[in-house]
Amino acid sequence: MRLRLSLRAVVMSLGMVAGAAHAASPLRDTQGSGFYRLRLGDDMVTALLDGTHPFKADELFTGIERDKVDAILADNFLSSPVEGSINAFLIDTGSHLILIDTGAGPLYGKDGGYLADNLIAAGYRPEDVDDILITHLHLDHEGGLMRNGIMAFPNATIHIAKADLDFWLNPANAFRVPKLLQPMFAGAKSSLGPYVASGQVKPFEPDQEVVEGIRAIAAPGHTPGHTWFLVSSGKDHLLAWGDTVHVAAVQLAEPQAAIKYDFDSAAAVSARQRAFAEAASKGYWIAAAHISFPGLGHIQRAGQGFTWIPANYTRTP
Ligand SMILES: [Zn+2]
Repeated sequence: MRLRLSLRAVVMSLGMVAGAAHAASPLRDTQGSGFYRLRLGDDMVTALLDGTHPFKADELFTGIERDKVDAILADNFLSSPVEGSINAFLIDTGSHLILIDTGAGPLYGKDGGYLADNLIAAGYRPEDVDDILITHLHLDHEGGLMRNGIMAFPNATIHIAKADLDFWLNPANAFRVPKLLQPMFAGAKSSLGPYVASGQVKPFEPDQEVVEGIRAIAAPGHTPGHTWFLVSSGKDHLLAWGDTVHVAAVQLAEPQAAIKYDFDSAAAVSARQRAFAEAASKGYWIAAAHISFPGLGHIQRAGQGFTWIPANYTRTP
């Protein structure tokens, strides 16, 4: 009897402790997985999240009235700033690992720098990445080349359009871009410097196969050498379109909406219209750098514009 009472006292006191701990539990405010897999022919594509970053849609769009941006955002249950994903994509061919873009790494503060952890969580090792294809030399695409002050991908060859390398590695071009693009020069230098020194940076001319199964397509405008990569495996095709879209809700409906980060906004708009028409008519998978993670889906014509159809969730692709 006494034993039973004391046991009960122990159970009760444990319950009180658990109750107290429960009440004091801090709010959990981060998501779980930062990788998502999609099968593409014989390849496995893994979307990797580097982070998310607030995008000031009300200030940064040009070629569209601010009221219209606000109205479209409201229709989509959004408001400015719109939190935008920073996505990169790993292509595993079975014998080769190719990474398209690297996220912001250390260059966006706490908003970025999670790509390497997510790559490891997905079962890969940064040192096993063979090739890295960079869509363009902005901070949120090349910053992840460095991690903790050293090369994050020590064995990779880095492929970048010659036009972007020539432009952003030459500080004499600084006068040709507005103030908000000035940090791109220092960013390109710090992220690429060690790889240039070790002979691991390989410039490419567009409209050719950069690595087996992946074709570089020139899409200048956002930057001088902005490039799309068309990944083909069997009958399947995926277009990694870099910064063709910053805010899907706005720019799919209104493709003429350019952003102040564009080097040449007229060229960027015409590249976007070309990407949309091509991807919609051919039914390509899209891998988008800034559409909500995982940034994998299709686009379809809708009225005067287009609409985004995200990949259907599959636990074991
Ligand atoms: Zn970007």
